[in-house]
Amino acid sequence: MAATRDSDYYFDDGNTVFEAESTLSKVHRSVMARSSGLSFEKTFPLRRRDSQGNRGEVPVIRGSDQFPIHLKKNTTLWSLYAIPSDIVDAMKLESIDPVKFINLVRIAKKYSFASIEIWALKALTSYLCSVPLPVPGSQFEPQAAKELSSEILRELTEVAAVCSRSAPLFEVVMAKWELLLSHGVYLKTAIRVSESRPELCNLHASAYYAMILRGGDLTRNFSEEQRNILLSGHYALFKLWRDHLNSPPQFHSSNDCDPSSECRSHWISFWNDLMGSNSTIPIFNSFHPLDLLGKLEVAQDALQGDNRELEKAYHLTRKMLERCRTSGKKVLEEMGRKTKLKLPDYFKSPGC
Ligand SMILES: [Zn+2]
Repeated sequence: MAATRDSDYYFDDGNTVFEAESTLSKVHRSVMARSSGLSFEKTFPLRRRDSQGNRGEVPVIRGSDQFPIHLKKNTTLWSLYAIPSDIVDAMKLESIDPVKFINLVRIAKKYSFASIEIWALKALTSYLCSVPLPVPGSQFEPQAAKELSSEILRELTEVAAVCSRSAPLFEVVMAKWELLLSHGVYLKTAIRVSESRPELCNLHASAYYAMILRGGDLTRNFSEEQRNILLSGHYALFKLWRDHLNSPPQFHSSNDCDPSSECRSHWISFWNDLMGSNSTIPIFNSFHPLDLLGKLEVAQDALQGDNRELEKAYHLTRKMLERCRTSGKKVLEEMGRKTKLKLPDYFKSPGC
């Protein structure tokens, strides 16, 4: 099928022709070069291989209707020629088109259009901050009524992982994933997008961890390798839980806390209630036995926080010396941090 000329981006006084999706665009080389960190010739070489594959033997002038430069998509042209009012409209939360900006980031990155890449990443970050998530109680902005789809989140995660300029977007993407995974939403998407990507090892591990906490058989369509990752991670978590159960963390100082005092025995009772099954403290029973991160967090609240649901836990912890409670909170915080760091080792990603 013959390519047709773009109604918006075929300028008669342009000097370079691109073809994307069977549409020809004739634009100004100087306008493109202005936004690129590379020289135009380096970004879009003007010579091509001849029929024998010899590079540069045939000096074809590329960039004409006959020999256009091929692009996958021409999203970049829109950003290069947009007038200020178009840009203002495109950046309004209700009208940000994530697909358009994702394509823009990819092309801008490929051809080193640094300023466009940064601008598009900023638009995607704003979009992600405002779009409602498919979880109860998530932020809802009336102007962005459509919920975030798994497909868009997958693409945003990929873009955030590969762009060196995307730290703010990466941070928001990971925060959204944390909320989604805690509700068991898009678990398999998280696993698929994070496999084989070293930047996403933590997401990969968190997704498998969340899958274990959800319980039930969520492994339909799982490959043998994925099942193995789940099983070996499950076993490693079980061993860690058993170690925790058998060895309550110690933090009572011999100077401040009498070894024979009740402070220590109250701590042991509290720890057994926290880690064991059939706890006498109802809120502890709401955690999956292997949800060590959740348990370590609630235990910190029980030692020093102010949470009405933990009234029964306070009954035990308030009998401890205050300085021991303070040291205990620090120790549990550190245990939680170390447990998080261990997860990628438990659920080994093929790319990590
Ligand atoms: Zn003590």
